[in-house]
Amino acid sequence: MEFAPTTLTAAEEELRSEVREFLAEELPPDFRPGLGMAAGHNPGFSRKLAARGWVGMAIPPQYGGHGRTAVDRFIVTEELLAAGAPLGAHFVADRQTGPALLHYGTEEQRQRFLPAISAGECWFSLGMSEPDSGSDLASVRTAATKVDGGWLINGTKIWTSGAHLNHYFAVLCRTSPNEGDRHAGLSQLIVDLSAPGVKISPIPYLDGSHHFNEVLLQDVFVPDDMVLGEVGSGWRQVTSELAYERSGPDRYLSTFNVYREMLRELADQPLDDTQTRTVGYLAARFWTIRQLSLSVARLIDARRAPAMEAAFVKDMGTVFEQESIGLLRAAADRELDPGRGSLFARLLAEAILTGPSFTLRGGTTEVLRSVAAKGLGR
Ligand SMILES: Cc1cc2nc3c(=O)[nH]c(=O)nc-3n(C[C@H](O)[C@H](O)[C@H](O)COP(=O)(O)OP(=O)(O)OC[C@H]3O[C@@H](n4cnc5c(N)ncnc54)[C@H](O)[C@@H]3O)c2cc1C
Repeated sequence: MEFAPTTLTAAEEELRSEVREFLAEELPPDFRPGLGMAAGHNPGFSRKLAARGWVGMAIPPQYGGHGRTAVDRFIVTEELLAAGAPLGAHFVADRQTGPALLHYGTEEQRQRFLPAISAGECWFSLGMSEPDSGSDLASVRTAATKVDGGWLINGTKIWTSGAHLNHYFAVLCRTSPNEGDRHAGLSQLIVDLSAPGVKISPIPYLDGSHHFNEVLLQDVFVPDDMVLGEVGSGWRQVTSELAYERSGPDRYLSTFNVYREMLRELADQPLDDTQTRTVGYLAARFWTIRQLSLSVARLIDARRAPAMEAAFVKDMGTVFEQESIGLLRAAADRELDPGRGSLFARLLAEAILTGPSFTLRGGTTEVLRSVAAKGLGR
């Protein structure tokens, strides 16, 4: 695995300062930060961010984007997540669907979607998981049948984050029968989430909040021009697309705000040994994983395909996020009162309830370790 040490250039540090200034202006003093990518869905905020050129950063200018580097995008994302900013509206389209459309979309699809994504006005969900098919994506049963001018799609998608808020989702489905090769015959179709035959039902989180859904597709018509990439190449496309969602700051910053708020609460008092150890240990871990994630962004800019490195960072990052919750809770128990309704208490409670999902979303720890192990064995 290749993790070269790297630091930010002066121009990159300048970008960081600009984002911090923007956030100081845009997030009011009474703003309630959230946990990482679950922080909130705020179309107005996404549009303002886009107006600064910080959405669609990886998309070339001819499609309304900004042709910036992966490291520049890393810096902006890191600052947004660290502030708990409400990036939910544009996040998936910016991180994942935009690059997928750029690589596999038709010219017409690029012209249609990429400028809208870069403007923070077109939002996507991901339609991969199904009730009996999560990690084993090749076993999806949602199927599309060819009809005049398009496809009729039937099936059920599950855990579809933001489907109740977003405009479209890219659905992985079977377009021809599985005849021996389970990876063949899969395709990706772009489905309008408001189309007739689409039924979206909430699946509440443990804390009662609504982030993801079950999406039932009953004879949903998808025109030919909404096939993403080649018919039959869905498996290759989806596995390469997953690399975009694995190694970024969203995989280690989910609990950063809890940490920061604990530091604020402890600022006026001497720390005991447990608190000192926890503060130091967490700072060191945040920084180490952040450096690994940054070096993956450098590899992407060098036109490498760091799938194995990305899997490794996501594994380390999300396991750390979960570990940090227990440590913060133990350190806080000594001096703080999580029951008294402070911001720290609210964020800690949210982290305890949603933390189990950190190592599942985007590919479970076991599956990522298998990706990394297969890569190492080559
Ligand atoms: C917060 C959240 C948001 C999500 N958002 C979306 C979304 O927007 N769109 C979407 O499509 N999906 C989404 N998912 C789904 C997520 O990516 C899947 O949950 C994940 O792929 C696991 O699938 P599963 O739940 O069916 O578990 P399973 O695949 O049934 O796995 C169950 C357990 O078995 C283990 N396991 C499975 N296969 C292997 C193997 N080969 N070797 C070793 N162990 C194995 C797993 O690691 C896991 O511990 C989301 C999930 C969460 C938690």
